[in-house]
Amino acid sequence: MDLRKLTLKFIYNLPYFAESWLELRKVASNSVTPTMGVSAHHGDFVLYYNEDYVSQLSLNDYGVLGHEMLHIALNHFERLKERDRALWNIATDLAINQLLPKESLPGGLFPDMFNLPKKQDAETYYQLLSKNAKKIVFSISGGNGKGNNGNEKKGDDAIKEAQKHLADDHGNWKEIEKLPDSFVKTMAKYYANKIKSCGDCPGALSEIFNKLYRKRYTWIKKIKDFTGNSVKSLNKYTTWAKFNRKCEMLRGVRREYSAPVLVLMDVSGSIGEKELADSLNAMFNILAQRKLPLVILFHDIEVCNEMVVTSPKQLEQIKTNRGGGTDFVKPFHYVQEHYPHIKRLIWFTDLYADYPKDTADYKILWIVTKDHNNKLPPTGEVVEIDNE
Ligand SMILES: [Zn+2]
Repeated sequence: MDLRKLTLKFIYNLPYFAESWLELRKVASNSVTPTMGVSAHHGDFVLYYNEDYVSQLSLNDYGVLGHEMLHIALNHFERLKERDRALWNIATDLAINQLLPKESLPGGLFPDMFNLPKKQDAETYYQLLSKNAKKIVFSISGGNGKGNNGNEKKGDDAIKEAQKHLADDHGNWKEIEKLPDSFVKTMAKYYANKIKSCGDCPGALSEIFNKLYRKRYTWIKKIKDFTGNSVKSLNKYTTWAKFNRKCEMLRGVRREYSAPVLVLMDVSGSIGEKELADSLNAMFNILAQRKLPLVILFHDIEVCNEMVVTSPKQLEQIKTNRGGGTDFVKPFHYVQEHYPHIKRLIWFTDLYADYPKDTADYKILWIVTKDHNNKLPPTGEVVEIDNE
């Protein structure tokens, strides 16, 4: 068998892989791999294959090519994180083999061999395997873990034995892991979209891609919209420069350039540095387009610091996690006194404080972390940071 013939059978049987497969560079190299596996070369993904290995495959083993495409499209490289490599190898193969026709794979690992549930992602298989590391039972014939058919291995031996049954070579993933994470993620998503956009891509696979690449950060979008709308509302005002020609007495209100949107930051709150940087950058960029500064008031029981951000460099210095007591009443009054013309207020907090009884004539967006107080504010919209 040569790769060309195997490719034809592969594309004929699983046509939704066609575009992504054609996109991937393939290099024959018996020195790099004993079988086949994905790697990176010159900043691009590449599939290395051993010609001797391919030559002994049968035409019905075409699924192994789909196996490679799925490792790429599901970004099994960057998703490794700090995990144990041997267990991750098994977990990823368990996750993808069941997405391909079983008879099209030259061997390979399936969940029933470990008595594990089907249709899980690699992270879940990893967790299940590592949680029960000592008790793992592996049987290539897919036993239920009860009977001993002679092939059954337990604990470390099970992991060792399962390594021998990987469908391919994961050893060269290390080259991909040297590339920047954001690049690997983008490339993986690119391949996933190629597979997904084929009309006949199975629904279950599309669903997996959607879940993996679902746009998170809905809270960032909320902040962007909220900030953007505060700027838009400025347009309703006429300015000192534009006199009303009909009657000079009806001179318009001056634009409140100082702060259409204001940020209140509860420094006792526990918002993460990345989340803080992401949200402040989003706001800063929107305001900067209109040459408006980002004004941040830091508070605990009262406003303790005021910052007018005019350059993104200033944002890098901002941190919270100070702990201690906090209060909303005094900061709220401070805003009323010093910023009477604001249109919108974004409040970063975990909501562990008493709310003021007064009402505000501007809109409030509360940005809260997952472990926020369940006593919700009497006014405004609450948005939870929805990062993993
Ligand atoms: Zn694999």
